[in-house]
Amino acid sequence: MSTSAEPRREALVELYREVSDCTRCPLHAGRTKAVFGSGNADAELLFVGEAPGAEEDRQGLPFVGRAGQLLNQLLEGIGMRREDVFIGNILKSRPPGNRDPQPEEIDACWPYLERQIQLIEPRVIATLGNFATKRITGSQVGITRCCGTPQVHEIAGRTVFIYPLFHPAAALRTPSVLDRLREDFSRLPSLLAEPLPELEAPAGSANEPVGARRDPASQLDLFG
Ligand code: SF4
Repeated sequence: MSTSAEPRREALVELYREVSDCTRCPLHAGRTKAVFGSGNADAELLFVGEAPGAEEDRQGLPFVGRAGQLLNQLLEGIGMRREDVFIGNILKSRPPGNRDPQPEEIDACWPYLERQIQLIEPRVIATLGNFATKRITGSQVGITRCCGTPQVHEIAGRTVFIYPLFHPAAALRTPSVLDRLREDFSRLPSLLAEPLPELEAPAGSANEPVGARRDPASQLDLFG
C-alpha cells in the first residue's frame, strides 16, 4: 500500500543519513563517501548497478563517470531525464580497487536497497549488468541471456517488473552491446505504462536478503 510521497521522502533522507554513517561492513573503512543513490524519491523507474567506482566514491554520487554520461544519453533518448528516475547500487561503499563485492558485504548492505524500494515504490527496477541482475532476480542466468526481457518479482514486499539491462560500462567497451542496450532502453516507456500482473504463487521473494551519516545539506537535494 502506497503512502503519500512526503513521509516517504523524509524517511529516505533519514535512510540517506544512516547509510552515510554506516559501518556495517569493512568497506566503510576505505570509502571517501558512501553513495546512497540519487534522483526522484517518487520514481517509477529505479536503476540498480553493482557498486560505486572511484569517481562515485569521491563525489558521493552514483554513475558520474563516462558510464553515467551514457546512462544520461540513453534516458534522453526515451524522453526522460535523470531527475525522473532514481539511480543506486547494490553496495553503497566502494570495494577497494573495484574488486567484486563479497557475499558478506552484499548481505550487510542489502537491507538498505530493500528499504529504498519500499520508500521509492518503483514499478520497474532496471538492473544494470550481470552482478545486479543475478542478485536481484535470484537467478544465475547471465545478462546476455536475460537482458531486455521483463520479469515479475516480489521484492521488499512489493510486486515489481525487473528489467535486466547491460551495464553502460560494458556498452562503452563493445559497440554491439551498446546497440543492444539502446534497443532495450527503447522498450522502457511501454514497460512503465504496462499494468503489473498479480503474482500467482506466494511469491517467495526472489531475494531473501536484503536489509544508512550526515553530509552537507546540499546533498539532501539528491532526492527531487
Ligand atoms: S557497503 Fe553498505 S553495509 Fe557496507 S559500510 Fe557501505 S553502506 Fe554499510
